[in-house]
Order: sequence, then C-alpha cells, then structure tokens
Amino acid sequence: MKKNQPKREKNQNLKIALSPKSVAVIGATGREGSVGYAVFYNILYGNYRGVVYPVNPKWRSIHGVKAYPSVLDVPDEIDLAVIIVPSRFVAEVMKECAAKGVKGIVVISAGFKEIGKEGEKLERELKEISNESNIPLIGPNCVGIINTESTISLNATFARTMPRSGNMAFISQSGALGVAALEYARTENIGLSKFISVGNKADVNENDFLYILKDDPSTKVILLYLEDLSNHQEFIELARIITGEIPYKPIIAIKSGRTREGARAALSHTGALVGSDEAYDSIFIQSGILRVETLEELFNLATAFSSQPIPKSNKIAIITNAGGPGILATDASIRLGLKLANFTNSTKKKLREKLPSMVTISNPLDLVGDADEKRFKVALESMLEDKNVDGVAVIATPQLMTDMKAIAKAIVKSRKKYEKPLVTTLMATTADISDAWEVLDEGRIPHFKFPEIAVRALASMCKYAWWIHRPRTGIKIFDNVDKLEVRKIIEKVKSEGRKFLLEPESHTILKSYGFPILKFKYVKDEKECLEAGDSIGYPLVLKIVSADIIHKIDIGGVVVNINNPDELCSAVKKMIENVKSYNPDVRISGFLVQEMAKKGKEIIIGMKRDPRLGPLLMFGLGGIYVEIMKDVSFRIAPIREISAYRMIKEIRGHQILEGVRGEPPSDIDAIAECLQRLSQLAMDFEELEELDINPLFVYEKGAKVVDARAFISL
Ligand code: ADP
Ligand code: MG
Repeated sequence: MKKNQPKREKNQNLKIALSPKSVAVIGATGREGSVGYAVFYNILYGNYRGVVYPVNPKWRSIHGVKAYPSVLDVPDEIDLAVIIVPSRFVAEVMKECAAKGVKGIVVISAGFKEIGKEGEKLERELKEISNESNIPLIGPNCVGIINTESTISLNATFARTMPRSGNMAFISQSGALGVAALEYARTENIGLSKFISVGNKADVNENDFLYILKDDPSTKVILLYLEDLSNHQEFIELARIITGEIPYKPIIAIKSGRTREGARAALSHTGALVGSDEAYDSIFIQSGILRVETLEELFNLATAFSSQPIPKSNKIAIITNAGGPGILATDASIRLGLKLANFTNSTKKKLREKLPSMVTISNPLDLVGDADEKRFKVALESMLEDKNVDGVAVIATPQLMTDMKAIAKAIVKSRKKYEKPLVTTLMATTADISDAWEVLDEGRIPHFKFPEIAVRALASMCKYAWWIHRPRTGIKIFDNVDKLEVRKIIEKVKSEGRKFLLEPESHTILKSYGFPILKFKYVKDEKECLEAGDSIGYPLVLKIVSADIIHKIDIGGVVVNINNPDELCSAVKKMIENVKSYNPDVRISGFLVQEMAKKGKEIIIGMKRDPRLGPLLMFGLGGIYVEIMKDVSFRIAPIREISAYRMIKEIRGHQILEGVRGEPPSDIDAIAECLQRLSQLAMDFEELEELDINPLFVYEKGAKVVDARAFISL
C-alpha cells in the first residue's frame, strides 16, 4: 500500500498536468521560426483557458505578455511546465520547477538518449530529478501535448495545427508521425480529445497515459502509435481492462517494424518462425487491441468506432445503387469474416410493397441507378429495423439524377431511431459531393471513399464485439508439476556447459510438467537397448542421443517400427554406422528406446523466449513442412485458457483438426492443455530459451509427445 503511494501521487500529478490551469513555457522566445516561439504562440493563440507564463531571462515580454527570468519568479502556482531549452540546461530548469512545486513537466528539447552516450547520461539525470520530486516528466525529445476540451483548449506543441475537438485520444511515440497525424485529422475533419507525444519515455510511458485515459470522460477511442512497449505485461493487463470492461474503449494501434527482421540463426522451428513482430501481434490480440498498418486505416477505424455503436454480431446488410461497388463490398465482407444477413419475411414484404418492381429483394440490395433519397430511406429503415441485421453499409454513387446531399440527409434522418452501426460510401467520381459529406459529418455518420474500406470498418467493429462478449477465462495453474526435477536437469546441463538438451532430458522435463509422453529408456549400448525393449515392449522406436545432432532423422538417427529384438540389434548397428558416416567425430551419448506411438495428426507446439517480451508460444500443424507453410499462431506467455483455444482455431488448417471427410475430430482439449502447461513451464524457468515439441501426435482422445528439443541459456 505504502509502496504505491508515490506512484499514485505521480499519476494524480500527471492528470493535473494534462488539464492544467496554468502553464509556464520555459524557453519561450519571440524569435519567429524557433520551437520556443511556436509553442508559446500555439498556447497563446490556441484559445487556452488557463494562464500562460513565458519564462526567459533574455526577454522582457513575448507577444506582449510579461516574461519572467525564472519559473521561480512566477507569482502563481504552475500546473504544467513546458521546457524548450538546450539539453544541457534542462536538468537545472527541472530542479527549479521542483522547487516551484509544478505538477508536471513536458521536455520538448532534443539531445538526449537519441544522440548516444552523452545524451543518455543527461536523460538519466532528468529521470532522477523526476523520481525524487515525484513530478511526472513527459519526453524528452517530444512534440508536446494537446487537450482540446472546451474548458482547457491547450495546444502545448510546436505542431502547426490544432485538431478539432472530439472523442479520440492519440498517443504517439514518434513526434514526426504525430504531427502528420494531426494534420491528417485536420484535413479529414476528425476530432481529438487529447494528443500526447511521449518522446523518449524517460519517465512516463504509454501505460501511465492509458491509466488516465481509461477514466477520461472525454475519450471514447484510444489511438496508439508505438515503436516499443515499456512494460508489456502491465500494458496487456491495462489494455484488457480498457478494451474489455465497461465503459468499453476500443484501442487501435499502429506498431512500426512490421517487416520481419533478417533471418536469424535459430535452432528450433519455433525460433525460425517467430520474430518480435509476431510477439507484438500477440500482445495486441491478447489485450483486445485492433492493429492497423497505416495512419489512414487508423483514422478510418477510429471514425467508425467513435460514432457508431458496437454491433451485436456479424450479419450485415449492404444497400447500393450500383452493381459493381455492391459486389466489391460483398466480396470484402466475406473475406473479412462478415455474413450477409437473411432479411425477415416482414422486411421482404415491406420492401416489395414500397420499392419499385425492378428492384430485386436480396442482400446486397441494389436499388438501381435511378434510386432517389426516398428509396434509400425505405431500404435503410427496413434494415435497421430487421432483427436479423447487425449492421448496415450504404453505398451511393452519383448517377445522372442522384441528389447526393438529399440521400445523405435521408441517411442521417433514418439512422437516428436505431442503435446499430452504419457505415457509408458516397463515391465521388466527377461530381463534387463535399456538401453531402458535410451532412454526414454533422450527423455523425462515418463515410469512406471506397466500399471495401467501409466494410473493413464494420468488420473490425464485429471483431471487437466478439472481444467484449468473449467468455472470460483465467490463467490455469497446474499443481501436479515437479519443479525440482526440472531444476535438477537444467543445472546438470548448465554444469556441463551445454545449451542443447539431450532428447531424454527434454522428455523428462515434459514428464515433470504433466505432458503426455511416451514410455522411454535412455541407454548406453546394444545390450541395454535389448533390456529396454523387453521392459517397454514392441513395436519400438530407436533414436540416436547426441549433443551434436539436432535433426536426427536426416542422418538416419531414427528407426521406427522395430518389431523384435533381432530388428533392434540390427537397427543399433546400422544407426552407429549412419551417424559415423555423417561425421566420424560425433559424440554418441547413447540411445533412446521409445514406445512406438500409433499414427495421429502431427502438430507442433513450441516456445521461444524474446529477450524483451519473454516467452512466446507457438502452435501449428507439424511435420517437415512447418517452416514453409508457416501456418502457425503465437501468444505471449502466460496464456489464459481461452488463448490456448484461440491459438488452435486461428491457423488456416484448423479444420484438419475438426475432422474432414469422415475423419474423427482431434482432441482439442488435449492440445489446449499442452499449450497451457508449456506456458507454465516457460514462466517457471527463465533459462529455457527454446523448446519444440515436434511432433505432438493428437488423437481422437488424448495426445502424445513424440519428439522434444530444448535449448537453455547459459
Ligand atoms: P527429428 O525431428 O530429430 O528428426 P523425431 O524424433 O521427430 O526426430 O522423429 C522423426 C519422425 O519419426 C517423427 O516426426 C515421427 O513421424 C516419427 N517418430 C519418431 N518417434 C516416433 C515414435 N515414438 N512413434 C511413432 N513415430 C515416431
Ligand atoms: Mg522431430
């Protein structure tokens, strides 16, 4: 309790700093073209409702406002100090701010971590001052903050544009991209509640802002541009609450670095298939965040989310006055997992009565080229009323007689009575239809330039609807595990200076964590092989055990279906020969005599530890083609029960496990349990770097670990 006190106080201070009653601009100047000029100018002429104090010993006044030599000279309390002085002076200025008792600080100045060692040192100093004084520090090296609330109206940035007031908050890790986003928002007439440029995140980071935005009444949608996460576990927990608990606030994010890093030396299949981008994808999925690729997509979704209710489910209706765009919208809908609703009989009847006979009553509903606003109104209202319809996309293209503005008006009017999401596409070709767009803006109806984009927004809303209605599950903890045994093995491998575990060691670890493994014996020679054969029983599998051999089958290190002692003897001889001809210097540690598993569906389950983000779990269809097919899914450990099931469902080939052409379905519960056990194992042992179970044979009932390969860090 006590430990959290300073943190809570800092959060409280940050909240005040984001809605300040007074601002000091330290480093404000009257010299046009400088950042200190731009920031002061923006605050002064941006209609700020509080009091602004320029601070600069070289100026008596700036824009006619009295300037002070130091923040300590300001005769008033200061909620927010915005600092724009050369980096080497920032620490000193911050100390003055601390002495003054300011609530929060934004350091816009650059010249810190981003320039290397020297800057890093300066930045650490800022962090220390902020910690000691409990004053939250935003930045350094940032663009500043904006709060458009009518009682604040603060633009403490050097960006040229102040966005319209609205209900989306934007947190940006890149200053330049943040500014570009502000300009885009301005030209598209998109409203923001807050804009926060986090810069180098020396002190406060995205989590601190999410914490505040969670309870911010003027923010309905949160937009993020991220380059990395400061604390991903905290981020997941916080974002899960924001996106998944009332009042639901959707979070839409762009994470840069989408392209895969160059090929890295990886020993396991999991290692070869995962990069940190997959890790970020998983983080977003696990926290209910919608990830997009471009700024345009970010704002497209945000516009829909900020003005429309969340649909109940994914059955939509499409209304159009032109065939082509209707087909495009339909194709996109199906591709994105939406379904075209079947209208109720009463809807069909109504449409038949009220629409001209040349209109075929179907979904998509083509109202035909000469459709006027009345026809759109009848169609839209019937669909919004239909209980089989969860959301509607209206597409209008200007044809000879189309009055787009009248149609826009009809849409706005019809929409008012119903709580269903509606997206529109008014396609301008040659005609100017900006007045129609304005009508839609006024009526808070999102409009898009192309039907596919409109439908994509609906699809994202449906995806989000799934998220908020998903069954809530916990992180299962299996208590029938033998930690001590695993610790013993890891210590032994470490003491021998090895990274690669021998297969019997991996099987023993998995056995200790309750995985369904096959009977096996780890033996030294032919004689012991025969004894093992007697005790396990035939048919058997023989495998080479060597720290020098990772892929056994490639070099004749696996013989399956051994039916009697004679076959076992010759298999041993042949295997030694194979291995020696592959490499005469190979160190053979012994043999694994393993129970022969009956054929099942081959899948792969794996784990790879990301240096920053921790263990990443992988699931996929196994076999030798796994790296080519790349039909795999990922999650960050620890996983909840529902994540295990979703991982299985997410791969393209999941139907293979559901049973095709009369095959029985595979035991999904058994796979999900293995995934959750692997999650626990990975969380319990930090040294485990990579682990592949490939294959895991899955049956109608149960599963068996056939092969396991693990690496530890030394
Ligand atoms: P590696 O992956 O090192 O080449 P595995 O132990 O995975 O070696 O064996 C190769 C293949 O042989 C497996 O993918 C599986 O199809 C088959 N196999 C191995 N062990 C068994 C077993 N105990 N029962 C049935 N099939 C097995
Ligand atoms: Mg294998």
